[in-house]
Amino acid sequence: MSYPIKYLSLQKAELIYEVELRGGTGDSVQELRKQIIKLAQTLPADDILESHLDPADDLKEVKESLLKSQNNLISLKKERFLICFKCGKKGVRYPECPDCNPKIHETPKN
Ligand SMILES: [Zn+2]
Repeated sequence: MSYPIKYLSLQKAELIYEVELRGGTGDSVQELRKQIIKLAQTLPADDILESHLDPADDLKEVKESLLKSQNNLISLKKERFLICFKCGKKGVRYPECPDCNPKIHETPKN
């Protein structure tokens, strides 16, 4: 299953890659975004089978991107249950901490 690339959500390095892959160039993120919107219409991702980079460089960039994604996922998981939205208590596992809503955290009695 494949998902369309959300070009406007890409980080600068990823934008540069996608633009250069299609023969464009650009310096600012804004400029790169304008270009990728145009270029992706004539050259959709499914039509691109080869990278302009040397395979070793390409692999290095892919590894860096995956590492960044992994780190983002790890920090998302950590942040997810951190703060009670009512009192701001840190380290809670639910949107409301046991102090603010004791009911939802009661464990069923055996
Ligand atoms: Zn609370």
